[in-house]
Amino acid sequence: MAYYVATSGTGVKTLWCSTVKIARSPCCIEEGFELMAVPAGVKYAIIGAGIHGLSTAYHLALRLKETGRGSGKDILVIDKTSIAAGASGIACGVVRNNYYQPAMRELMAHSVAVWESDPKAYSYHPVGYMQISPEVMRAQVATIYEQQKAIGYESVFIEGASDSQAYMEGLFSDWQAKGITSVLHEKRGGYANNTASMYGLATKAEAEGVRIMTGIEVSGFEFASDGQAVTALITGKGRIACDYVVAGAGPWVAKIWKMLDLPATVAIKDGDGRMHTEVPMWKYWCLEEGTLGVDPNMHKTNDGQMPPVIHVDTDAPLYSDVDGTLITDKLWGLYYKPDFNFGGIQGGSSPYKVETPVDEVALDPYGPDSPDFIVGDDFIHTWCSMLAHCQKRFEGKIGQYKSHEKSGGLGCFTPDNFPVFDQFRGNVFVIADSNHGYKMIGVGKLVAEEITGRKSRLLEPFRFSRYAAGKLHPVSNSPFPWS
Ligand SMILES: Cc1cc2nc3c(=O)[nH]c(=O)nc-3n(C[C@H](O)[C@H](O)[C@H](O)COP(=O)(O)OP(=O)(O)OC[C@H]3O[C@@H](n4cnc5c(N)ncnc54)[C@H](O)[C@@H]3O)c2cc1C
Repeated sequence: MAYYVATSGTGVKTLWCSTVKIARSPCCIEEGFELMAVPAGVKYAIIGAGIHGLSTAYHLALRLKETGRGSGKDILVIDKTSIAAGASGIACGVVRNNYYQPAMRELMAHSVAVWESDPKAYSYHPVGYMQISPEVMRAQVATIYEQQKAIGYESVFIEGASDSQAYMEGLFSDWQAKGITSVLHEKRGGYANNTASMYGLATKAEAEGVRIMTGIEVSGFEFASDGQAVTALITGKGRIACDYVVAGAGPWVAKIWKMLDLPATVAIKDGDGRMHTEVPMWKYWCLEEGTLGVDPNMHKTNDGQMPPVIHVDTDAPLYSDVDGTLITDKLWGLYYKPDFNFGGIQGGSSPYKVETPVDEVALDPYGPDSPDFIVGDDFIHTWCSMLAHCQKRFEGKIGQYKSHEKSGGLGCFTPDNFPVFDQFRGNVFVIADSNHGYKMIGVGKLVAEEITGRKSRLLEPFRFSRYAAGKLHPVSNSPFPWS
């Protein structure tokens, strides 16, 4: 095998083995770590270099140091591809608090504080976020506002069709979305640049001594003689003994779950106390996003500022911006923001459910490289018509959609579409965010605290046991599975 080190223009060293990127870490390279292929053993093995794996690694390094139990040198992050190769590297990057479920809101408020703690490293843009809704959602969004006030999360709530229109026109003179009767304007939140924020986190973790090795796939686990705790990871590059495992495998969580021999189906108690058995643990949805290739500056507010992220749900009929035909008269929704990173107005609309059995879904190649799960002409037509429905400035712009850039990707969802954050087998923490999770940078911090002995109140509503206990989260009227 030929090993070589490439140095980028910014001085970052990357170790390659043939065509596979092995490690991106000046400290690893200087210590000759990579030449050992993989270490024989580590205290903490983290699977996945996405938002959760990297955030856990960084915060665990800090916690180990703070509590005198060790340091980042005790932590190894491995990824089968590279940093940001999964959902975190293609996420739209929206960071918001707007959730109907109190537990989700509290967790998001915690995460927003982590984004705000180092906006430069995390490539975070605190422009705010707006949920613009029809009558069918008004009462639920009003409760979100009330509870945001209760937890001190700054927002403004406008009610009524004419006041909502006036508020929106105060921001954008060309506002024209129909069927809107409330506006929730969150003053915190916004968005971050997906890959840049992952590299920001990786750099912070590496500065604490964490090793990140890429091009190494976990294909199984070794268990203790009683069949419980994991004692080692089996990888394509050898066995890695470990004391504790964190799985942050994003859309691949169903595979890791199976390797851990965890149940393929669950029993769930509903709100009426009835048990539903044999409910599949995992399902996939395909997220549809894209970019209108106009100058991002064309979507500034009336006073020339960068606007908040806009999310509109409405039950007003949607007509084609191309030929005026009816696209839908059902509840629909979209989100968008000007984004210099994507080079235009970037956003998406509701995802669709993948009906293929979970084990047969082609996860790799992932994201824009997938031949199956990228957006097509229907999405482009519908999303561009939605944009034109909301703001006059987007009328007639469909020709500028970046159809040459592939986009979209799979998300892995739990039975109730809310995260499972829990420890299994006594020494494996599974972070399964049910595709809510780019914004959840703070989860890794809480997981790090739990691993080092401090139970988290914020994670408690997301335990696996909630299904059997019937402690489910309330469900909103939104057309999205993640609101
Ligand atoms: C198109 C799209 C847009 C989205 N937009 C947003 C948004 O705007 N805001 C938001 O909050 N969320 C968004 N999400 C959801 C969010 O991206 C995910 O919930 C989150 O990024 C998941 O993070 P993760 O760290 O769990 O997984 P990932 O980022 O997917 O990282 C998992 C990593 O694990 C590695 N891996 C997997 N299996 C193995 C194995 N066996 N061995 C070794 N390594 C392995 C993969 O290579 C990957 O790098 C979006 C998702 C998609 C698909």
